Amino acid sequence: MNTYKLLTPGPLTTTATVKQAMLCDRCTWDDDYKVVTQQIRKKLLTLAQVDPAVYTAVLMQGSGTFGVESVLSSVVGQDEKVLICSNGAYGVRMTQICEWNGVPYAYYAEPFNHISDAQKVAKYLQQDPSITHVAIVHSETTSGLLNDIEAVGKVVKAAGKVFIVDAMSSFAGVEIPMQDWGIDFLISSANKCIQGVPGFSFIICRRDLLEASKTKARSLSLNLYDQWQCMDKDGKWRFTSPTHTVLAFAKALEELDKEGGIPARAKRYAENNRLLIERMRAMGFQTYLHDHQSPIITTFFYPQGVHFDFQEMYQYIKARGYAIYPGKLTDEDTFRIGNIGEIYPEDILNVTDILADFLAMKKKEAQAS
Ligand SMILES: *Cc1c(COP(=O)(O)O)cnc(C)c1O
Repeated sequence: MNTYKLLTPGPLTTTATVKQAMLCDRCTWDDDYKVVTQQIRKKLLTLAQVDPAVYTAVLMQGSGTFGVESVLSSVVGQDEKVLICSNGAYGVRMTQICEWNGVPYAYYAEPFNHISDAQKVAKYLQQDPSITHVAIVHSETTSGLLNDIEAVGKVVKAAGKVFIVDAMSSFAGVEIPMQDWGIDFLISSANKCIQGVPGFSFIICRRDLLEASKTKARSLSLNLYDQWQCMDKDGKWRFTSPTHTVLAFAKALEELDKEGGIPARAKRYAENNRLLIERMRAMGFQTYLHDHQSPIITTFFYPQGVHFDFQEMYQYIKARGYAIYPGKLTDEDTFRIGNIGEIYPEDILNVTDILADFLAMKKKEAQAS
């Protein structure tokens, strides 16, 4: 089988040992398995730096979007309203979730290269007292932008509202002291910075707010309160759980600890990202963002002055061991390179060397014709 490493925002390259943890079948109702779920839930609270008496963790089948949909459709009541702060495709997706579920919402949009402004959020809350919740994406994987959720959290808490954060591509890749930053609901998934495989999302949230959402859910399978009630008893999931994915995730958490926890992982990702941008700029590639660049994924403009085809470049790099990512901006020609997962500076050196070879080949072709 032709294998290659993933320089994408998830699924990511995982270790061989995480993949090996899946070579085992488990019953969803067996104690052996339920214990694993309970250990994962407990560990997530530690990583989020929260008091277990105040917060809880719920695992939810499906990809990250299922987790976001579970929260928005389960905790914002019919007579409440969520302010969605958006500066990318994942913010826009939150509005789609609200449309489909009939969740009342207000919309605050910024261009994709601007962070959400805490003062503007404060103004929205002041002008529309019917807003009860505020939702934002932390690391906007669309562009690679990192929103200042600490600043937004401050104004949300000052106004006494509930704060919901999609930290899908940032949780465990950067430090998020969830309780200190006033985050009430945080959503992430198995196949991002914890470096597990796809199959479930997880929600870390305040117990009292989850309790208060008891009758608000709009769906059976994504009902967050019911999922919590069942899982909290002894670790059993309500419906069939992704058993192999859960075992892989438990292994990935163990390996995160071995690496030195989130501080060590954040440092590795930041170094990968710094090196990537340095090497790409040296080759003449411009980054889409000038500031608020996350250490997770970077958007680059197509190079100037060479005939450039993304698919051709993609196939060239893939044949040499790495998969990169197309752009997700509607009005600019860009591509993205992620640097999370089981990726080290050596990989960044490799992929940028391959890209340099590709560009040299294109230049030679241009001269010959
Ligand atoms: C990956 C991601 C999601 C979830 O996407 P899925 O394809 O459903 O896993 C949501 N928000 C952000 C910011 C993401 O990076």
